[in-house]
Amino acid sequence: MWKTIENFARAIESIGRGLAVTIRNALERPITVQYPYERLPLPERFRGQVVMLDDATLGGTACIACGACVRSCPADCIAYDAVEVTWEEPKKRRQTVSHYRIDWGKCINCGFCVAACPVNCLTNLGDYELSSYQRDNLLYVYDNPTAAKHRQPEVPFRSGR
Ligand code: SF4
Ligand code: SF4
Repeated sequence: MWKTIENFARAIESIGRGLAVTIRNALERPITVQYPYERLPLPERFRGQVVMLDDATLGGTACIACGACVRSCPADCIAYDAVEVTWEEPKKRRQTVSHYRIDWGKCINCGFCVAACPVNCLTNLGDYELSSYQRDNLLYVYDNPTAAKHRQPEVPFRSGR
């Protein structure tokens, strides 16, 4: 008899605890948002995908094809074709890139390449909406507008991977 009463009291207590959790959550503000109609503010230091910058004085990228970004990339997703600089430029450099490629599908947005670049020609855009049905759409290619003025070397420079 006492055992039955004890079990009944425990059952009531369990139901009460469950109901308390349900009521507490029902009264709180929801923590989900209706994406894409609502968006949460991004953290201040969020990086997003990497792109190449143009230099106003050069008319194209200031990249010197040093390979520091390629070596620093933990995801192995950067490659480029280097060309020899054969015309007079406001900034002195021996080589630059013609096509610079980043596979955003593999990039983990760590920012190591941006930090490693000695001429600050890479930057993070801060965008995160990159989903695509085709992996090819995630291949970022920067075509250097000044590349045609330069000469492909007879012996190719180191070209990323
Ligand atoms: S952000 Fe990181 S993973 Fe992405 S390209 Fe740069 S170094 Fe590679
Ligand atoms: S680190 Fe900068 S300068 Fe060097 S290859 Fe990469 S983008 Fe070009």
